[in-house]
Amino acid sequence: MQNPFENALKQLEKAANIMNLDKNIHAILKQPDRVLTVAVPVRMDDGEVKVFTGFRSQYNDSLGPYKGGIRYHENVSLDEVRALSFWMMVKCATVNIPMGGGKGGIIVDSKKLSEGELERMSREYIRKIWREIGSDKDVPAPDMYTTPKIMGWMRDEYEKLIGKSDPGVITGKAIADGGSEGREQATAQGGVYVTRELMKKMNWRAADTKVAIQGMGNVGGFMAKLLAKDGFKIVALSDSKGGVYNPDGLDLDTIFVHKEKTGSLTGIDGVQNVSNAELLELPVDILVPSAMENQITVDNAANIKAKVIVEMANGPTTPEADEILSQRGTVLVPDVLANAGGVTVSCFEWEQNVKNLKWSEDEVLTKLKPIMVAAFNEVWETKEKYNVPMRTAAFVKAIERVAGKIKI
Ligand code: NAD
Repeated sequence: MQNPFENALKQLEKAANIMNLDKNIHAILKQPDRVLTVAVPVRMDDGEVKVFTGFRSQYNDSLGPYKGGIRYHENVSLDEVRALSFWMMVKCATVNIPMGGGKGGIIVDSKKLSEGELERMSREYIRKIWREIGSDKDVPAPDMYTTPKIMGWMRDEYEKLIGKSDPGVITGKAIADGGSEGREQATAQGGVYVTRELMKKMNWRAADTKVAIQGMGNVGGFMAKLLAKDGFKIVALSDSKGGVYNPDGLDLDTIFVHKEKTGSLTGIDGVQNVSNAELLELPVDILVPSAMENQITVDNAANIKAKVIVEMANGPTTPEADEILSQRGTVLVPDVLANAGGVTVSCFEWEQNVKNLKWSEDEVLTKLKPIMVAAFNEVWETKEKYNVPMRTAAFVKAIERVAGKIKI
């Protein structure tokens, strides 16, 4: 398997060469500012103590406090956490929010823990890293297998340790616990703002544009509903077991009700069932991967018919597939831009917490729009200036911003 941090460094190098980055700044950006590796001992329900390993990588805080999720997964590793913190730096800088890059994780299969064990582990992790976090220092958030409830325990433990309230220490909290309105649909809404801008560049009309969406969870589900509201023709949609396809457009209400009732997408009248692999290769205008990483690879990139790919999932396209798509002239809106609505509204949650404000859902989604629109257009201009794919352009733009703030 490819080492994710080596991949991140290759992307950095590519951007550095294009923009002629100062070699001292390049050297600084080749490693995180700080990485914590911590032991997380937990008294299990049977009385035994199990010691888990946790990490927190703080990549760069030139633009603002480090920001990034905490992942609970068996495959968490130091290199994964370092790479993810680098990509968070790039994502925050791409949309120009006042946040740096961070990421954390614990090596654990959290599904095997009882609720009590999960709470004790989450609190112990905070006891090990609390000196290095805070609303003015490093602001964690949820990631894979971490939830608003876990964020609530972490905030509570942190505030007990510092002896005062600091709700902005962590985002992704439940609304009642200081979370932000609008966070649920923020990622998809950001993706829609970006897609609308792209439509102008392509000179396309929503009503003539066929869209296939892989995944119908938080991101894919909202994306389908919001794009349909804009008049796009959603022709394919899938869950982990497979998808449905109708070249004339899907009736989304029927599909979501059926999925809710039966838990599956089989047995729906008037649609064709397709596998997730087939969905990616359908004759559509826009493909929106919204599920997993590594879906578009060297094996299927040449078969993709969509002229536009909007990466709502994180890392759905491998670097080799990127090359193939770029040679074929596919316009790919990279994850660091397309799905950055999520981290932007996390930043809004932090801002509301530190300023003691409360914005309505409408206010939140209205504030999101100019940020996504500006980011899209800046990345587009950078792509034109250097004649590079949008992913490279986003990295160049982001690193330009971070580098501009580094003082040595
Ligand atoms: P989710 O768990 O709500 O939904 C995931 C969807 O993917 C489900 O429909 C599931 O059935 C489907 N799926 C699972 N395995 C699949 C497979 N092998 N093939 C095809 N589909 C599969 O997750 P989400 O929050 O919607 O996140 C989706 C992606 O978007 C992830 O890559 C995530 O990192 C990224 N993302 C999410 C947010 C956010 O705010 N939720 C923000 C930025 C990026």
